[in-house]
Amino acid sequence: MNKLKSVWINELSWEDVNNYLKKENIIILPVGSTEEHGLTGPLGLDSYAAIALAEDVAKKTGVLVAPPLWYGDSSHHLGFAGTMSLKTSTLISVIEDISESLARNGVKKILIINGHKSANLPALLSAVKNLHEFKLPQVFFAIADPMKIAKGIASKIKDNIEHHVGELEVSHIWYKYPHLIKKDKLTKKGIDYEKIFSKYSQYDLFGKSGEVIDIPWNSYEQKAFAPDGSFSNSSKASPKKGKEYHDYMVNVLVDFISWLKKYKGPIANIKSL
Ligand SMILES: [Zn+2]
Repeated sequence: MNKLKSVWINELSWEDVNNYLKKENIIILPVGSTEEHGLTGPLGLDSYAAIALAEDVAKKTGVLVAPPLWYGDSSHHLGFAGTMSLKTSTLISVIEDISESLARNGVKKILIINGHKSANLPALLSAVKNLHEFKLPQVFFAIADPMKIAKGIASKIKDNIEHHVGELEVSHIWYKYPHLIKKDKLTKKGIDYEKIFSKYSQYDLFGKSGEVIDIPWNSYEQKAFAPDGSFSNSSKASPKKGKEYHDYMVNVLVDFISWLKKYKGPIANIKSL
C-alpha cells in the first residue's frame, strides 16, 4: 500500500480511499460529544479523547479513520452554555447513515471508538446491533470505550473516584492537548453519589462495582446537584497519568486490530448475504 499522507479520510482523496479499500476493509469511527466538562475541561473533551485514540491507533496499524462525530447524547448537560446534544434516536440514525455509507464503499469492519463513555453507549449499541441484524449483516461492528478498555490501568493510577470530569479523562486531554485544560480550575470537590442516587449508583466508572440500579437524570437535576458541571475530584490529574492511560488503551486497540485484520467471521462464506 502506498504511504498515505494522512490517516484521516477527510484529508485524503476518494482515489486514496479507494486504493486503501482494495487492501484493507477496516475503518475507525471516533464518536464524542460537545458538552460541558466543568470549569477545567473544554466542551469537546470527549471528542478529543476519541480523536487522540483513533489517530494514534491508526498510525500504528495503517487503518484509516472516518471524520469524528463531535456530537453525542448529552441532553443531561444542556443546562450549561455551549453544550449541544443529539437525541438518542438521532445519534442512532447518524450512526446508521455513516455505517451504510461506509458499507456502500466496501468497508467490511467498523470499529467505533467512543470518547463519551456510558452516555453514548445505549445509542451506539442499539444502532450497531440492529444494523448488523437487519441492514448490514455482512459488516462487522465493534465499540471500544475507555470504561472497558482501561480497566487494567485505571485503578492502578487514579487516586479518586472517576466520573464526569474525573482525574483520568482530564489527565488524558492534559497529556494530548495541554493548552485545553485550565489547571487553575482543577477541583477537590466531588458529588455525593450515594446521597443523590442511592447506594446502588455506579459512582466510580472504573471502580469495583456491586449491584447497580441505573437512574437517568435530566439537565435540571444535574445543574442542581453539580452547579459547576464537575462530578469528580480532579485535583490529582496530571499529564503523566494521562500518558499511561492513553498508551494502555492504544496498546489494547492495536492488539484488537491485529486480531481483526485476520478475522473472517462465522458468516464470511454465506453467499446469500
Ligand atoms: Zn467526558
